[in-house]
Amino acid sequence: GGRSGALRVRMEERLLSARFRYINQQLYTCSSQEAARLFRSDPDAFHIYHRGFARQVGRWPENPVQRVVRYLRQRPASLVVADFGCGDCTLASSVRNKVHCFDLVALSPRVTVCDMAKVPLGAESVDVAVFCLALMGTNLQEILEEANRVLKQGGTLLLAEVASRFVDLRAFLSALARLGFRCVSK
Ligand code: SAH
Repeated sequence: GGRSGALRVRMEERLLSARFRYINQQLYTCSSQEAARLFRSDPDAFHIYHRGFARQVGRWPENPVQRVVRYLRQRPASLVVADFGCGDCTLASSVRNKVHCFDLVALSPRVTVCDMAKVPLGAESVDVAVFCLALMGTNLQEILEEANRVLKQGGTLLLAEVASRFVDLRAFLSALARLGFRCVSK
């Protein structure tokens, strides 16, 4: 109790934050297949990651998923959406659209558990593919090709990512162009 209890709580918080940053870094530096193995072998890691993620995003002036929500609300609710790396399904629960939710672990019953590099959807079956702070694996090309496969012709890819994650944004955009995506707005 008392001061030692408070100290202990503070130390535990620090450890959880450190563990979140460590797992986050792992996710951005391994392939999506390795990420899937990581969370399968250590389900605790996923929950620690998500608590840390929610805390971090909560400190930002705006949560990017809310931008995606606003974007979809301005468009017909008939558009079918695939949410790659959906987390707690904030997107699906905030719009009227049909949203296919994919993640490595199910935080909600809406989630289809799978690796985003291989989602159980037919070719050309969705209008909008979303990666909101979820474009993580080193096998980006494979992941974006998967988004391309499930998107209808003329469909929309929405990416929200932390700017510092990009070493060279122009190179990234031209790689996207080679995968068949035209940049409409940045
Ligand atoms: N899009 C949500 C959650 C972002 S956190 C939001 O904006 O609130 C990033 C999510 O991507 C995590 O839930 C993580 O588990 C998921 N993720 C990372 N790699 C993945 C993979 N290979 N396949 C599926 N989901 C993955």
